[in-house]
Amino acid sequence: MAKQEMREPIETGCPDPFQYMHPVSRKNFGLWKYHEHPRPGVLRHVAYGGDELWTVRAGTQRILDVFTLRKLCEIGEKFADGYVHFTIRSNIEYLVSDAAKVEPLIKAIEDAGFIVGGTKNSVTMISHTQGWLHCDIPGTDASGVVKSMMDELIDEFRSTNMPNRVHITTSCCQINCGGQGDIAINVQHTKPPKINHDLVANVCERPSVVARCPVAAIRPAMVNGKPSLEVDEKKCICCGACYPPCPPMQINDAEHTKLAIWVGGNHSNARGKPTFQKLVAAGIPNNPPRWPEATAIVKRILKAYKETARDWERVGEWIERIGWPRFFELVELPFTKYHIDNWRGSRKSLNSSSYVRF
Ligand code: SF4
Ligand code: SF4
Repeated sequence: MAKQEMREPIETGCPDPFQYMHPVSRKNFGLWKYHEHPRPGVLRHVAYGGDELWTVRAGTQRILDVFTLRKLCEIGEKFADGYVHFTIRSNIEYLVSDAAKVEPLIKAIEDAGFIVGGTKNSVTMISHTQGWLHCDIPGTDASGVVKSMMDELIDEFRSTNMPNRVHITTSCCQINCGGQGDIAINVQHTKPPKINHDLVANVCERPSVVARCPVAAIRPAMVNGKPSLEVDEKKCICCGACYPPCPPMQINDAEHTKLAIWVGGNHSNARGKPTFQKLVAAGIPNNPPRWPEATAIVKRILKAYKETARDWERVGEWIERIGWPRFFELVELPFTKYHIDNWRGSRKSLNSSSYVRF
């Protein structure tokens, strides 16, 4: 019998990006001389060989239905060169090599109801996590918060009036993805999980969730003669890590799941040493469908930043310069006990809270 050839392994992962690039991009890879910003939402790249490539950026929500995607692609086929890409903040970018195509392309995008902008020192699209649609542990919607906030920030998306670029993020749980921005809007759980003992006994023989708790607050226990779990509520830091692997440990609820706003941090710091984000507002109602309380605070922070930061200062650098007490005054936020990191394991991180320094 003939020797059977082994099949080649199927490589998964990121596909080769060159096949999707605009031909001018591909030709000039590594050969760009400079780029400029002729107007908000438009970039012009010039290569050493003289080629030009124009990029027109428009905002989208991260989770797109197929009809919207088709509409965006049709614009790309008809008014651009048939090449698009998405930025990590869900902006779509059309690429054209002919300057004469730029204005008709902008008109087509805007006529279809999309907004051109999000470049340079604007408030670009909020990057959001997946929320109810894809994930099993969110405490709030993600795209809904983004849509509500960007509706209010539309003028800052279309213009470039901020001292430097502003990146905002939302995260729909406390522990996993999201949270990398100048301003981060994160879910905040405010009470320990509630255990459905009947369910634990029925679904799990040896609950591995015990190992999941960062402060060892969960332990096996016999409840009403059945094996279950108990939570030491004095130890629990309400992180929500136990809920994903153990649905009977429900932590979300309409009253106690709140939003918190964090600012600064590494992503908000163009020149200084690495820093953590810091909590500036806690216990904000998680209030769909428009989240007005969280949006109002974000707008106050942006207004103070726009009015008092120096050119090129990122949000984190601005706060470091004016000082945290002045920041709280400017944004009219109260400083409460929730701003102090009082977790027993926080010796190392205490110096990253807004006020306590030693
Ligand atoms: S932030 Fe949390 S809940 Fe939201 S998508 Fe990421 S892992 Fe899921
Ligand atoms: S919420 Fe976090 S700290 Fe509390 S029991 Fe669950 S895993 Fe432990």
